[in-house]
Parts: sequence; C-alpha cells; structure tokens
Amino acid sequence: MGECPEMFQHLNDFLDGELDPSLCAEIERHIGECKNCKLMVDSLKMTVKLCRENGPCEELPLEFSEKLKSLLRQRWERKFGKK
Ligand SMILES: [Zn+2]
Repeated sequence: MGECPEMFQHLNDFLDGELDPSLCAEIERHIGECKNCKLMVDSLKMTVKLCRENGPCEELPLEFSEKLKSLLRQRWERKFGKK
C-alpha cells in the first residue's frame, strides 16, 4: 500500500477495528508517511470516538458510516480527481 485511494478503500474497516491486522499495519505505516491521510484519519478517529462516547452505539450506525464514506470520497476526489 502506498496510494492514498487504496488506503481509502480500507479506511472504514480500519476505523471500525475490523480490518485485517496486516492491512492495519499498512495503513498505520501510510499515515506515518502521508500527512494528508494522517490528518484525515486523526479527525475521523476523533469523530468516531465522540460518536461512541455520546451515543449508545457500540457499532457505528450505518447512516453515519455511509456519511463518512461519502465525505471521504468527496475529499479525495477534490484532492486527487475522479477516477
Ligand atoms: Zn495518503
């Protein structure tokens, strides 16, 4: 892994803690090298944390998950262009 869009594909599972440990390590490594992704992951982690603390939800609500994905997609498309 080294491409931001590739990381993006796994980001949701990563945040849910459901990602394969080896892929998790890849993402951790990528955000160690990529400032943009680190900023995004940090802010997403914060959002997820707040959601879990404020709500009864153990799991992220599906709706939130979908919003997150579309938000991420928009940001990435702005940055890298549509593919
Ligand atoms: Zn990146």
